[in-house]
Amino acid sequence: MEFSSKLLERAVNEMSQLPGIGKRTALRLVLHMLRQPKEQTLALTEALQTMRNDIKLCKSCHNISDVDVCDICSNPNRNEAIICVVEDVRDVMAIENTSSFKGLYHVLGGKISPMDGVGPHDLNIESLVEKVKLGKVKELIFALSSTMEGDTTNFYIYRKIQEYNVLTSTIARGISVGDELEYADEITLGRSIINRIPFEATLKS
Ligand SMILES: [Zn+2]
Repeated sequence: MEFSSKLLERAVNEMSQLPGIGKRTALRLVLHMLRQPKEQTLALTEALQTMRNDIKLCKSCHNISDVDVCDICSNPNRNEAIICVVEDVRDVMAIENTSSFKGLYHVLGGKISPMDGVGPHDLNIESLVEKVKLGKVKELIFALSSTMEGDTTNFYIYRKIQEYNVLTSTIARGISVGDELEYADEITLGRSIINRIPFEATLKS
């Protein structure tokens, strides 16, 4: 791609670093910004900068938050005895949208994936085990996507907490294997949380 301006080229190159944005789309977006009032671009860059600088991870569940302990964890009406284990903030958002779950979450920050160099210690697993050890948690619901990585992660956590007195269940999904949680429709996802099944039942001997 030949550019008439180094400034334009740089903006396009930066924009095309985003997933799903090729050079052509990046150029279209940048040209769009140039046509818009300058304030619009400033508002965008300011929003991104502030988000990047000020955003926090909840000290308890590791969800993205503006405060040290997120609104879900600090809500006295939520049931702290049930923890739903998810991969990232998108899963929390999807499950919250169903209004079917009144427990707390634990955000792992990914799945165990040796292919991608992600081991158990790269994820928020230790802090989950520590929570279980405290004895307040009665049930863990595994809500990771049903991929090999998701299954591996579930099983790893299951082994880690097996000795403690905690129920484990997995969401019974009407979703085909490999579908990501965030794409499930709300009714299906809500039902799958209510109709969750004991984790042991999913283990093949
Ligand atoms: Zn939290």
